[in-house]
Amino acid sequence: MAEDLFATAQALNATVPDDLAERLGAARAAIPGRLVLTTGFGLEGQLLTHGIARAGLEIELVTLDTGRLFPETYELWAETERRYGLRIRAVHPDAAALARLTDRHGPMGFRASVAAREACCGVRKVAPLAMALDGVAGWVTGLRRSQSAARRATRFAEADMERGLVKLAPLFDWTAEAVASHIRSLDIPYNPLFDRGFVSIGCQPCTRPVRVGESERAGRWWWEEGARECGLHLPPPYAPAA
Ligand code: SF4
Repeated sequence: MAEDLFATAQALNATVPDDLAERLGAARAAIPGRLVLTTGFGLEGQLLTHGIARAGLEIELVTLDTGRLFPETYELWAETERRYGLRIRAVHPDAAALARLTDRHGPMGFRASVAAREACCGVRKVAPLAMALDGVAGWVTGLRRSQSAARRATRFAEADMERGLVKLAPLFDWTAEAVASHIRSLDIPYNPLFDRGFVSIGCQPCTRPVRVGESERAGRWWWEEGARECGLHLPPPYAPAA
């Protein structure tokens, strides 16, 4: 099993096509079993959704509905389903875990400490991601190298031994400008918050616009120092107790 994951990732990395649709097609052809794209409706997720829909690839579309997304994000979710005639499946936080979280920390407790913020991301994002990826053979993400220092080493395909799947980043070598340019030229629906200075858009209370000269993820958990990661792209186990 482990050898299979490594061999598949290695083969995909050995001949990465230039074209995005070909990259998605190569991943679909190389990985037997279920493939899932997790999208948060950012520009990368929208570009990948467009590529999957237009090519008719058998790749499931899933979003983690934290319950704290921007109204604009929910509108975009609906608009994307209408545009492409597909359903983007939502995975929600466990209701009992969410109740324990808010009992302990309150509705805005994630601002109190890094541990409280990680607890919230753990319940609202990381645990639902584990549910979304249960039984999945390939996980398609919108990761790019230039998003942050922590993502500099991202490759097209990696063997995720903990989750037992091949993790894919078809946009790993794309720039933010190239993604935005394709969104415009292909008339792909996107979040209007991007036109108001937001770059990486997550939950409403934890996202602010990015200022000139700041990194792409500077608007996420801006009150914290450090890596600015919610845990989705850190190796498990990463699900702090609520
Ligand atoms: S981004 Fe903020 S609101 Fe969303 S899950 Fe993380 S801490 Fe909670």
